[in-house]
Amino acid sequence: MFVDVHCHLSFPEFDHDREKVIERLTEEQVTVLIDPGINVPTSKKSIELAREYDFIFANVGLHPHEASSHVKESIFEELEALAKSPKVVAIGEIGLDYHYPDYNRQAQQDAFRQMLRVARTLDMAVVIHCRDAWEDMLQILTEESHSAMRGVMHCFSGDSGIAKECIRKGFKLSIPGTVTYKNSQLPEVIRNVSLADLLTETDAPYLSPVPFRGKRNEPSFVPLVTANIALIRGIPIPEAAKGIAQNTFELFRLSAP
Ligand SMILES: [Zn+2]
Ligand SMILES: [Zn+2]
Repeated sequence: MFVDVHCHLSFPEFDHDREKVIERLTEEQVTVLIDPGINVPTSKKSIELAREYDFIFANVGLHPHEASSHVKESIFEELEALAKSPKVVAIGEIGLDYHYPDYNRQAQQDAFRQMLRVARTLDMAVVIHCRDAWEDMLQILTEESHSAMRGVMHCFSGDSGIAKECIRKGFKLSIPGTVTYKNSQLPEVIRNVSLADLLTETDAPYLSPVPFRGKRNEPSFVPLVTANIALIRGIPIPEAAKGIAQNTFELFRLSAP
């Protein structure tokens, strides 16, 4: 069994062939899929999709790109209410993205803190998007942290030192298809942490793994990520898949099928 803990299957990129994509992922034995929201409308779509399929779960979130200008207070109330819907298993994606210099960092930080507080109120895991912002990310997590903080660094892009820091704070590292790219530092990270700290994702429709790079990504490609982790750690693929599925069930408090 394989798991895709971060896949935007409810995005419009899949509107014309979603059923076929779901058929393919079932054939590839992907048995859990988590669909994150990036704002109010997409969080609603995630919840709707999760309602239709047993193996799909939703996240309710506010992506840092959506928080680059001031966000109305009512949005946080709306997201908190949505997060109480059936099959919502985490708050996400939320976080910081400093990749482009014109992003409003202060607005992102404010929204991120607000969403962490929503997660704390509801006692839910968080799914974090962090790009080129590790120092501020770790600082805010320290300031906003509490004993029950748990979650995922989705599409993990840090080095081994940052990986260890995230794990110490109660986070798991979700490995995307970029692990198959030649210059990736993920193999080193994967060797330096425990299997219990790892999850797998596609972040589809983005970031296709080799040999599909440049094409639309889809959840049936997630076994390639698991196979890479198995290869890097020198263990059989079923052992890696089983361990990663177990990590997923524990973190998101899903009941095993
Ligand atoms: Zn993201
Ligand atoms: Zn995403």
